[in-house]
Amino acid sequence: MSKKANTFQTPIGTKDLLPGESARWNEATRQLGRIAERFGFSLIDTPIFEDVGVFSRIGEGTDVVGKEMYEFLDRGDRAMALRPEGTAAICRAFVQHRPLTPWKVYYTGPYFRYEAPQAGRFRQFHQYGVEAIGSDDPDIDVEVIALAWSVLQGAGLRETQLLLNSMGDPETKSRYQESLGEFLLNRLEEIDPADREKAKTHPLRALDSKREATQAVVSEAPLITEYLSTDAERHFDRVASGLKALNIPFALEPKLVRGLDYYTHTTFEFQSLALENAQNTVCGGGRYNGLVEQLGGPATPGIGFALGIERLLLACDAEGSFPSPPTTTEVWVIDVTDGSSARDLTNSLREAGVAADRSFDQRSMRSQMRSADRSGAAIALIVGEQELNESVVTLRKLRDDEAGQISIPRSDVVNEVRLILGLES
Ligand code: ATP
Ligand code: MG
Repeated sequence: MSKKANTFQTPIGTKDLLPGESARWNEATRQLGRIAERFGFSLIDTPIFEDVGVFSRIGEGTDVVGKEMYEFLDRGDRAMALRPEGTAAICRAFVQHRPLTPWKVYYTGPYFRYEAPQAGRFRQFHQYGVEAIGSDDPDIDVEVIALAWSVLQGAGLRETQLLLNSMGDPETKSRYQESLGEFLLNRLEEIDPADREKAKTHPLRALDSKREATQAVVSEAPLITEYLSTDAERHFDRVASGLKALNIPFALEPKLVRGLDYYTHTTFEFQSLALENAQNTVCGGGRYNGLVEQLGGPATPGIGFALGIERLLLACDAEGSFPSPPTTTEVWVIDVTDGSSARDLTNSLREAGVAADRSFDQRSMRSQMRSADRSGAAIALIVGEQELNESVVTLRKLRDDEAGQISIPRSDVVNEVRLILGLES
């Protein structure tokens, strides 16, 4: 009996990025990089795994650390984690390298959270984000939010909403936490049973519960805006007036506390109105003035955001924006002799900066022509016995309506192609 080999699938909550969609992905990440650089941010890349302690600062009581983190012991018995988010790791890098401030960096790459997979929610997903570390100036909050706005506009999204809030300074936060905790405790019976523990231990977390009963109670809870210190208020006002000056529409949302413990002052979220509630947050961020210190560095303010690339593209799908870019192949070389001309011509074209491709395995003319059409190339170059004998190439424009073709000397073909494609010589 023959034994069938096992086949394997991608792990739950992960997916393969395949040619087709990958072209769009590539274009998106390139565009995101260009925008960050336009705002004066430089690329940073940190390891995909870190000492688990780097991420504990996000808050043991948060879902990200408490329930979702991929933790493991390496072969040397060190406690490691696959990074669930970028900010803590970048603050770790800031403390390690002590760069000049303000340190403005952006990143993009895979992140890992053990979540229940659904549309727009994966166990390996990709974030693009920025961090500006070392300045407390509210204008840098505005700059960071403007960058995110620019990204969403650049992707063609029109149905997004910017929600803005302030968590104030740590004193504001703890005073508010106390009275919110008291309020929730008095109404514990009315809160959804699944949220009661959270309401007792981490009252702020209860604010972003999506459960109806909890939301009903929360809608009557005291607002953090009433607890802001004068300094916190001044910071917040400058951020709000900055956004107005830059014509970036926003709505105040005093219940926006975000899922991580380290936020102070400005917090914000961009939501897509075209997506379902459960995955409508495309981008979220805020200030984290205590985080660098918690990671062993000097007291240093910082602000940033992270944007889910899958979510961004999902929102684009929902709005019909940011289509796949056109194909990159410019020329298809068809060789119905022994393939040597295809080998040599593709090479000359590529050396001259032209994206060229060909068929292999001595296919028929018909089959090679089909491949040329499918490739999306603008030009087909054809070499048969006759062309070979006369040292010419037949050039056919594939996208022009009148399907004419011309014969050109083989020695001129690269220049001729470059001319047609509009590449300067
Ligand atoms: P959510 O409320 O949707 O769970 P979050 O508050 O946990 O989001 P952040 O930690 O702020 O998210 O991460 C920033 C962005 O990363 C989110 O706004 C979202 O676009 C994206 N994101 C977060 N978790 C996932 C995931 N599991 N799969 C895909 N994208 C994600
Ligand atoms: Mg989450």
